[in-house]
Amino acid sequence: MTAPQVVVVGSYVTDLCFNCAHFPRPGETLAGTSRTGPGGKGSNQAVAAARAGAPTLYVGAIGNDAFGREAQAFYEAEGIPAHWAIKPKQPTGAAAILVNAEGQNQIIVALAANLHLRRDDLPIDAIDGARIVIAQLEADLPATTHALKLGRTAGALTVLNPAPLRPDFQPAMLKHVDILIPNETEFVELINRLGHQPGQKPLTAKALLKLAPAKLHALCGTLGVPVVIVTLGQRGCFISRADGYLEIPAFTVDAVDTTGAGDAFVGGFAAGLLEHEGDLAAAARHGCAVAALSVTKPGTAPSMPTRTAVSRFLK
Ligand code: ATP
Repeated sequence: MTAPQVVVVGSYVTDLCFNCAHFPRPGETLAGTSRTGPGGKGSNQAVAAARAGAPTLYVGAIGNDAFGREAQAFYEAEGIPAHWAIKPKQPTGAAAILVNAEGQNQIIVALAANLHLRRDDLPIDAIDGARIVIAQLEADLPATTHALKLGRTAGALTVLNPAPLRPDFQPAMLKHVDILIPNETEFVELINRLGHQPGQKPLTAKALLKLAPAKLHALCGTLGVPVVIVTLGQRGCFISRADGYLEIPAFTVDAVDTTGAGDAFVGGFAAGLLEHEGDLAAAARHGCAVAALSVTKPGTAPSMPTRTAVSRFLK
C-alpha cells in the first residue's frame, strides 16, 4: 500500500434517503421511495480526496452492526484504506433525510459511534507520515482536536472544515489549524462568535455578500488561522491569508444535487494541494472542479469524481 499522504479523521454516517410528495405531518404515514448510501462529512471528504487521486487514509468510528459492515465493505470496494475504531456498544451513525417534491430536505442525524472516537483510536504512525490532516466537527471534538495537534506537531498541513458548527465547539481548536474551510453560514457564525468586537452588530449572511474584499480579508484575519477559504456555493470561494485575498470562481455546470458539494471541495482541495505542490489558488480551483463535477450527480460519496474525470474537465 502507498503510504497515505492525506489522513481524514471524521464521521461516517449511513444516509437513509426518503423521497416523498410532502413532509409527513405528526402522526401521518406516507408512501415514498428510498435509497441508502455511505455519508458523513469525514467519509465524504476522504472519498473525494482518494477518488481525485490523493493517497488517502480515512479514520472513523462505527458500531459492530450491519451499517458498520456496509461501511467497511464500501471502503474495500473503493480500494480506499480505512482505520476503523469499532464501538460495540454504539450504533453506526445514521441520518434520515426526507426530500419533498420541491427538492427541500429535512434531516435528522444520529452521530452515535462517531461521538465515541477517542484519542487512543488515532493511527499515530499514519498521522506522523501524512502531508495533510483533515478534520470536521461531526466526530468527538477532543479526539478531533488531538488529531489536528498530532498532525501539526509532525509537520503536516492541518485543514479544518468547521461543519457543523456545534455549540460545544471550542475556539482553542483553531490554534492547531493551518487552513480553515467554512461555508458562508459557518463563516458568519464563526465571525459572530469569535471575531467580532463587543457592541458591534452581528454579521448576517446577507450583509456578508455586500462586503468589499478588503473587509472580508480583515474579518478572516480576526479568526487567527493562517489561511481561511470560504466556499460560496455556485459563486466559488475566496482565499484569505496574510499576504493577500483572492477570489476563485465556480465552474458552470448543470447541478442536479448540491448535497456534499462542500465535502467534495475539501477533498478536491487536498488532492489539488498535493498535485500543485502547495499552491493554494491552484488547489482551490481543483476543489471547485471536483465540487462542480460532484453536483452533476445525485448522492454524496457516490457522486465524487475520479482523477481521470477531473483532469478531463480541467483540460
Ligand atoms: P453542502 O452543505 O451542500 O455540502 P456547502 O454549503 O458546504 O455545501 P458550498 O459553499 O455550497 O458548500 O459549495 C462548495 C463548493 O462547491 C463551492 O465553492 C463551489 O466551488 C462548488 N459548488 C457548489 N454549488 C455549485 C453549483 N451549483 N455549480 C458549480 N459549483 C458548485
